[in-house]
Amino acid sequence: MTDITSEIKQRRTFAIISHPDAGKTTLTEKFLLYGGAINLAGSVKGRKSSRHAVSDWMEIEKERGISVTSSVLQFNYDGYCINILDTPGHQDFSEDTYRTLMAADSAVMVIDGSKGVEAQTIKLFKVCVMRGIPIFTFVNKMDREANDPFELVDEIETVLGIRTCPVNWPIGSGKNFKGVYDRQKGTITRFFAAHNGQKEVESVEVTLGDEHLDELIGKDNHDKLVEDIDLLDGASDELDLQRVQEGKLSPVFFGSALTNFGVETFLRHFLDMTTSPLPRNSNVGEISPFQNDFSAFVFKIQANMNKAHRDRIAFMRICSGKFDAGMEVFHIQGDKKIRLSQPQQMMAQERHHVTEAYAGDIIGVFDPGIFAIGDTLCASSKRFEYDGIPTFAPEHFAKVRQVDTMKRKQFIKGIEQIAQEGAIQIFQEFNTGMEEIIVGVVGVLQFDVLKFRLESEYRVEIRLETLPYEHIRWIENKELDISSLSVTSDTKRIKDLKGNPLLLFVHPWSIRTVQERNEELILSEFGKN
Ligand code: GDP
Repeated sequence: MTDITSEIKQRRTFAIISHPDAGKTTLTEKFLLYGGAINLAGSVKGRKSSRHAVSDWMEIEKERGISVTSSVLQFNYDGYCINILDTPGHQDFSEDTYRTLMAADSAVMVIDGSKGVEAQTIKLFKVCVMRGIPIFTFVNKMDREANDPFELVDEIETVLGIRTCPVNWPIGSGKNFKGVYDRQKGTITRFFAAHNGQKEVESVEVTLGDEHLDELIGKDNHDKLVEDIDLLDGASDELDLQRVQEGKLSPVFFGSALTNFGVETFLRHFLDMTTSPLPRNSNVGEISPFQNDFSAFVFKIQANMNKAHRDRIAFMRICSGKFDAGMEVFHIQGDKKIRLSQPQQMMAQERHHVTEAYAGDIIGVFDPGIFAIGDTLCASSKRFEYDGIPTFAPEHFAKVRQVDTMKRKQFIKGIEQIAQEGAIQIFQEFNTGMEEIIVGVVGVLQFDVLKFRLESEYRVEIRLETLPYEHIRWIENKELDISSLSVTSDTKRIKDLKGNPLLLFVHPWSIRTVQERNEELILSEFGKN
């Protein structure tokens, strides 16, 4: 095996998705702890605040005390090199959150055991399903009163539309949480509340039905466990690795990130069941990660980290070969050879310069304004283009008005550049030009980011008038006569900058009505770039 091959084989690149507060940060922190990337468990808050030190680029982040952009963390564990892509939640939820999933090879979904599947998980989950990447479920907070595990698993199956296979099964929850039963090994890992967070606790081999088990976990718990496992063995899907890898079956684990219970077991199973980076599709077919030539695609652009320089950082996912600092690569969309400068990577909490990186890794490079989301970089001897990144449906829309109409050119330049970075999407009225601009965003915070950046970087003041639309659909068959479509009164026809037609709706049921009235109309939830 060449060095490059063995390096790439060690790589695992995944995203963690969850609804805010389900425990994503805590779980990530425990992973890092196992990798030795941080020394102390239980410093969740510490991590959250220290994260500012590295992502404190935009003033708005400082003002709001949040991190607008998602970060990437790399650590080593048991011979693996693991890249975790953090997906921002709360108000800082944006299109970047979705795009991060395009750079991941698999996803870990954290669910709060007492809340079940929550709204934000559903949206992110849909993107994973669209990509067909493996999805692992960690049902967290079992040390608190949780919903019935059968109900939880059933909810994942019905709400998210994926089959599940519990790898371990909880024995009680909250005060009565005794631990988990490993269905493959037939062992029980016991939970001791006193073990607050430092080490994995003991595992005991057990035979279900053996009376010694009554002493260990109590007779009632034992009886219930026997019953549960019996039911599970009869009803749940087999742990079929192929289906896991196709994203059709989600292995489910129960645990408690805060008390570090079940985290290492989860990590080990996860590493066993996932693969190193897989080939990615391009216009010349699949590109193997193990080919020697470097290639990558840009999935995120972060602007203006340093206000004085108006520079940007383009984050790219390396898809094949090896990256060496200062190497010359071919930028397909720019049709030019370039040198990637100031490459950086996140290691736990610090940003540092990278000298080499491999397929599966994420690096950020200085962008003098030449990159756009989805761009491909490759060796100049073998040029190709990776499949583009879809445009995700914005959920908030506003009309943008300029306060000082004299600055029209500045305004258009600014708003187009910000749109190119992928922070916002811009649209126009269907029948007019740029005089009316509609902005669409995935998370409302992006409106503030837009306003702030236009003012600070382009000296253009704007007013935003919020529109009632919440749903957008791309019209796939563009040849249709859009003006003659039969639509509802809450439907609005718009077009993007390339002239592609779209529809905006206030109510979800209008989408159905419009679809029913216009049978030939093909609508899509994702826009193709
Ligand atoms: P995130 O928003 O998904 O990143 O969630 P955090 O990791 O910040 O966790 C949210 C809150 O839940 C914090 O107060 C954590 O201490 C707490 N928490 C996380 N995991 C657990 C757990 O396993 N058990 C309990 N009881 N609390 C937890």
